[in-house]
Amino acid sequence: MKPFDYTRTSSVQAAAELSSDDATMVIAGGTNLLDLMKLQVETPARLADIGPLGMEGIAETDEGGLRIGANVTNTATAVDERVCRDYPVLAHAILAGATQQLRNKATTGGNLCQRTRCFYFTNIDQPCNKREPGSGCGAIDGIAKLHAILGTSDACIATYPGDMAVAMSALDASVEITSSRGTDRVVPAREFHRLPGDTPWRDNVLEPGDIITAVTLPPPTGGSHYYRKVRERSSYAFALVSVAAIIEFEDGVFSRADLAFGGLAHKPWYDPDISAVLLGQAPDEALFDRAADVLLKDAQGYGENDFKILLARRTLHAVLAQAVEDAA
Ligand code: SF4
Repeated sequence: MKPFDYTRTSSVQAAAELSSDDATMVIAGGTNLLDLMKLQVETPARLADIGPLGMEGIAETDEGGLRIGANVTNTATAVDERVCRDYPVLAHAILAGATQQLRNKATTGGNLCQRTRCFYFTNIDQPCNKREPGSGCGAIDGIAKLHAILGTSDACIATYPGDMAVAMSALDASVEITSSRGTDRVVPAREFHRLPGDTPWRDNVLEPGDIITAVTLPPPTGGSHYYRKVRERSSYAFALVSVAAIIEFEDGVFSRADLAFGGLAHKPWYDPDISAVLLGQAPDEALFDRAADVLLKDAQGYGENDFKILLARRTLHAVLAQAVEDAA
């Protein structure tokens, strides 16, 4: 690890101003960043610790939703009584990720900003456009089992590795951002992460000088919540495919079908056309296939990850079938 300066920030604005400097990185729980620093993938000259800023509460909003501070740990969110009661998909997704020790340290804002676990990205001897723009993408013709099948580009086929954000996408949460430029804003979770395009080093919409301050959940809407994560072992593994779903039936047809997918793209994948196929229709295998056809219409495998195309179809089927069974 290279030497670096360490600053405990005293206000959100001070943290935002520090982070506008390219050589400074913001640290919260540090569960991903410190690993990347040890590997010399990240070599900041300075860390700006936002731990002292509070942002550790979960509060009810005027609209009836929940506002989760950026420094709330994943454990605190997953065990919050209101989250478990009204947003179980979020609790399930968080508990499907990492280990208890990591969840005790990992924060809401940090989890959103975690970086891909692509082997080439974390190995500084390998080509990687995300880590070193213009150096090439080792994964496209290489080790790509974990990699994306949707929304890829010639520059990068990495996946966003998290679980929490997939549930937030299904829930249509919002990310609050304070900026040193005075352009504070609220970004839908569904638009927070980016596709790689020709700028794969940008994982999300944060600009220098931006600090995540909270994530807001909309008022609870009921329905049955599911988070199904398919992975190579039952704990401490990233998703090959995951599905976050909020499903409701009325008079035998889908009246709600909010679905988001992990492990398939550079961002949690949300496609409103999948809901459109399901809503108002009676569930059966043919309908599930039509929904999967929409999800996978532009899917492309890269050899080692070809299996994800069928796995995503089967996982979507399994979640929808479970919802039908539970509603019977
Ligand atoms: Fe780097 Fe993306 Fe290629 Fe992985 S997939 S080597 S992160 S450019």
